[in-house]
Amino acid sequence: MSLVVRTWGEFPNFNPATDRNIRCQCGKCGEPLVSLDFMRILQRGRTKHRRPANITSGCRCKAHNTAVKGAKNSDHLYDPKGKRLTCGFDIAFVFSSADKVFTGQLKQARDDSARWILLIALLDTTTNNTPIVAFLRDYTISGINRIGVSYKRNFVHLGVNEQNPANVCWFY
Ligand SMILES: [Zn+2]
Ligand SMILES: [Zn+2]
Repeated sequence: MSLVVRTWGEFPNFNPATDRNIRCQCGKCGEPLVSLDFMRILQRGRTKHRRPANITSGCRCKAHNTAVKGAKNSDHLYDPKGKRLTCGFDIAFVFSSADKVFTGQLKQARDDSARWILLIALLDTTTNNTPIVAFLRDYTISGINRIGVSYKRNFVHLGVNEQNPANVCWFY
């Protein structure tokens, strides 16, 4: 039921004409094939958050996903037929030490599902006002349910994927 985005007019903050990383960066296909439902969730989060979302990695064809060593079932892989709500983008996020204090609490969780539950509980109760809290709160409330955190490469993966588990959080 999920369709591919054909026109970008309903997304004031995202457009492959200006955000080149929305398109596959393999240098060949250049496809911006992305699930309409995913983009609506992402835009909802962006509107709520009111801060730039700088995409560092968007759609990938199979060849490019392999080239960048993406997971075999990566959220970034696009579905050429657009039948699945399947996508994920990496958004630039520079972690301050206060951000790491918040996310560091998630490292004790035993697996990705337990980490998600802990994340949502912490977002509900924390008094830490550091930027990552607002970021994760705004996007998870909007429907993002797969979160990956990379301190090393300064990004947060935001995904929704009908083929992969929902409500999971991991570190790279
Ligand atoms: Zn490609
Ligand atoms: Zn990603």
